[in-house]
This record gives sequence, C-alpha cells and structure tokens, in this order.
Amino acid sequence: MKVVIVGGVAGGATAAARLRRLDEAAEIVVFERSGYISYANCGLPYYIGTIADKSALTLQTPESFRARFNVDMRVRHEVGAIDAARHVVTVRNLETDEVFEEPYDKLILSPGARPTRPALPGVGLDRLFTLRTVEDTFAIHDFIERTGARSATVVGAGFIGLEMAENLRERGMDVTLIQRGAHVLPVVDADMAALLHNALRDAGVDLRLNSHVSGFERTPGAIRTLVEGGDAVESDLVVLSIGVAPESALARDAGLELGVRGSILVDASMRTSDPDIYAVGDAVQVAHGVTGAPALIALAGPANRQGRIAADAICGIERSYPGSLGSSVLKLFGTTVASTGLTERAAAAAGIDADAVILSPADHATYYPGARTMVLKVVFEHAGGRILGAQAVGASGVDKRIDVIAVAIRAGMDADGLADLDLAYAPPYSSAKDPVNMAGFIIQNILEGRVEQVRW
Ligand code: FAD
Repeated sequence: MKVVIVGGVAGGATAAARLRRLDEAAEIVVFERSGYISYANCGLPYYIGTIADKSALTLQTPESFRARFNVDMRVRHEVGAIDAARHVVTVRNLETDEVFEEPYDKLILSPGARPTRPALPGVGLDRLFTLRTVEDTFAIHDFIERTGARSATVVGAGFIGLEMAENLRERGMDVTLIQRGAHVLPVVDADMAALLHNALRDAGVDLRLNSHVSGFERTPGAIRTLVEGGDAVESDLVVLSIGVAPESALARDAGLELGVRGSILVDASMRTSDPDIYAVGDAVQVAHGVTGAPALIALAGPANRQGRIAADAICGIERSYPGSLGSSVLKLFGTTVASTGLTERAAAAAGIDADAVILSPADHATYYPGARTMVLKVVFEHAGGRILGAQAVGASGVDKRIDVIAVAIRAGMDADGLADLDLAYAPPYSSAKDPVNMAGFIIQNILEGRVEQVRW
C-alpha cells in the first residue's frame, strides 16, 4: 500500500507516524510546501519574544523523521492537483521547479488553514506580516533584528494576535492592538474578555476596540494602519492576525465535497467524499462537540487526533471522531485564559435555553502563600443542568479547571456530576471546595430553586 500525505506538520506528521506503527510495509510519502516538518506552530509567537533557541521550534527534520519512521518526507514540495480517477497527485519541487506525478493508493490531506488577508489597500506592503509557518516567524524576527524596529501594530485579537502582542511587548516594543469587535478573544464571552483587557492595558498594550481597519500606507521608514473614523496608527511593522480560512483549494479542484466556509467535508473516520482520500486538521469541517452542528475549529489537539483516526481507518481500524469542543488555553502576560465548549453567547445562538454561573474563588487555599483570585464561568442547560461550556481567567490553576470541565462535557455530565467529581487537593494547589465542585453545587441550587441566579 502506498499512502501520500499533503502537509507534514500537525495532522500530516501524526498520520505518517501512526501509519508506520500500524503497517511496517506501507510506502509513505509526505509532501510539505514549507522548508520544515512537524514543527511547533503553537510555539511560533514565542520565538519572537520568549524562546531564544531557533532549533527548539523544529521538533523533527526530514532526515530524523525518515530515520525514525522510514517515511519519505519531502519538504519544499507543493502538491498542485489531485487526479482522483487516476489516483495521482501533481507535485512541484519548489527548489528545482520540476513538476512530476506521484501515484497513491490512499491520500491524506492535512493542508491546514491560511491566514485571512482581506482585500484592503496596502495588504501586500513589505512591513506587513502574517504568521503561520516557521519561515513567517523568522521573517518577523529577522525584520525586527535587522531594522531595530521599536513599534508594532497587531490587527486582530484572537489567539495569534494576543500571543503576538504579548511577545512583541516582551521584546520591549510599543504595541498597538486593534480589534474590530467590542472585546478580544471571541471564543470567550464579553464579561470574561473584559478581564483580559485589564491584563493587556496593565502590560502597556495600547488596546483599541471597536476599530475597523480600512487599509495600510507606507510612510518613509514605517507603515501606517488606517482606521475608519479614528486615528491612524504609525508603526515599524504590522502583524495581521484576523483569522484563518481552510486551505481547501486542492480538495475543491479535485471535486471533493465541501462544507462550511469552503472546508473539506469528511465523515467520522475522516474520509472525504472520495473513499480513497482522507482529510484532517484545520482544513476540515467537524461536528461541534456539544451541539453537533458543523464547525471549523483550528486547534492542534484535534488535528493530531484526526491524523491518527485517518491512519487507523486506512489500516482497517474504524474509529469515530466525536467532534471538537474547542478546548483552548492562552497565556497573556501574567494571566491565563482557558475555555471549552459553548460560551453563553454561542449557546443562545444555538437556540439552547442556557444560563451561566460565575464564581471568583481563590486559585488555592487562601492561608497558603500566593493565593490569587480566578474567575470561572460555567454555562449549563436550564432543563436538566447539562454542562455546556466553561471559561476561566486567572493567574494559575485555570487550565486544570477547564480541562476537568472539558472531560465532564465529553462525559455528558450535568450539575450533579460536577458537584460529585473527586478532584485532587492540597493547599498549594486548590481548596477542599474545588471551584469545579462549587460550580456544580451552585448550579444544583439554582435548578432546585434554592438560590436565585445573580448576574453581574
Ligand atoms: P498545519 O499544522 O498548519 O500543517 C499544514 C501544512 O500543510 C503546512 O505546513 C503547509 O505548508 C502544508 N501545505 C498546505 N498546502 C500544501 C500543498 N498543497 N502541498 C504541500 N504542502 C502543503 N493550536 C493550539 O491548539 N494551541 C496553540 O497554542 C496554537 N498556537 C498556534 C500559533 C500559531 C502561530 C499558529 C499558526 C497556529 C496555532 N495553533 C494552535 C493551531 C495549530 O497549529 C493548528 O490547528 C494545527 O497545526 C493544524 O494542523 P494541520 O495539520 O491541519 O495544519
């Protein structure tokens, strides 16, 4: 059996390694457009401001992957077309410009998502960057080193925009963060995001909310970001991080069925509309883990797990991807924010009669030194108390609470389930009344009519 994989990073590299573990004899060829494989995308922003060692980002080289897994990893090779009827892909070697065909028995697409570049004046200018690959990170890093850049404008305050704002600030640069909506990080509700606004402002980031960028202009030695009805911002560079779109042109041109926002449609085994072609990662449509509705969730954990499921299916082991909860965590200076499942806003948009409790407990026993307040919001369904989602902001212990609730959601727990969870406790880490248990108790009381819901 010969398996060809498009994309050699999160989903693609995982699928290749899993295939090799399941089938010693399979011929496995991976084509990767960039110069790197299996790199840590999630670490890319930290190379700008926190991680000094370049090599720490690239976990594997094509040679080490080949030696370890006997996989033919070809970097700087772009797959340009799929001929599904003939079972071949057309590939361009980006070093030599040679174009050739590569046959496959099974094909796995893990091409990821590309940064959205809006059709605004000045989007192609030289001082404007996006961040997706190792090369993009080096380009930003080298530009700052070469020019001695002192100021940056970050457009878009999702995960990547916030991480870039932090890391540019950690370098001592003046950072302006422009966000179109009323709050940063749309995967959390406005009340929780407000806590992040404080963290950003305390760290010296010039945060501009409700600001629509209308274009960019070069000025001598700088770039100006134009803002509708507001002051333009002049800085040494701009990082555009307004979201990502599935990289699905290959699949579309091959006639594969597409889903929401041009994503690749797959079944629970990650099989596309062509039975010999699988697709995984940021490029595919998934079922939301709470509502079951079609969703695009671009995160590393799902891509890795889907890569494994596709490899299993190719080797005859059928598993079902259960959908994505969008569990995520982000460091923002001294603050951590994490979330899973539905926000209150998303639950309402899905037509679910939901409510939320908000607690502000200490992150560990208050008599033990260093206790800090965290804020935990748990969203639940009115009828029956099913847990739908949670968000938390604090200095520590936030990721643990959200991970516990992510497990509870996947297990279909209700308020009683949360209240009964048997969680680890010692004073430096938690309190005997863990915030997750407390959330369960409060929701029980609300549902049983013993306390009235109190909102901020
Ligand atoms: P990718 O890992 O992006 O790999 C796709 C690869 O396919 C790319 O390298 C691309 O060059 C290649 N490719 C595309 N088209 C072709 C073609 N035609 N021919 C050959 N090669 C092709 N997720 C988290 O969960 N936590 C985080 O903290 C986090 N931080 C992130 C920070 C940054 C800066 C970025 C960019 C992403 C981050 N993510 C994070 C998201 C996570 O990296 C992705 O969800 C994950 O990598 C998706 O895996 P994938 O295999 O679908 O795509």
